[in-house]
Order: sequence, then structure tokens, then C-alpha cells
Amino acid sequence: MTAESLFAECIIPGCKQPVTDELTPCQTCRTIFGPMLHEADRPPSYTAADLAERDAGTAAA
Ligand SMILES: [Zn+2]
Repeated sequence: MTAESLFAECIIPGCKQPVTDELTPCQTCRTIFGPMLHEADRPPSYTAADLAERDAGTAAA
């Protein structure tokens, strides 16, 4: 197991809170966004790498 997998970041853009399971929101975001967040009963159509690519442009701006 790598440190990266141990400390995956929250899925919410701009949030850097560590989460135990990648592609999930952290507890803070669950509290803030509550009803707007929905658990999907299917595998996500994206991966952590996809999200990193998506966020790279925003982070660079
Ligand atoms: Zn978060």
C-alpha cells in the first residue's frame, strides 16, 4: 500500500481533505453539501487520474 492510497483527497474540487476511500467526499463536505451528494449504486465512470487531469487546469490558473 502506498502513502498516496492512504491519503487520497476528497473528491470535491478544491477540497484537499484526506479521505480513506478515494473518489468519496470527506466528512466535512458530506456535512456541508449533505442532501446534494448522492451515493451512486454503480461504479463511477471516472478514476482518480481523470479527476486529477480535470483539476489540473483549474489549479494552474
Ligand atoms: Zn471535502
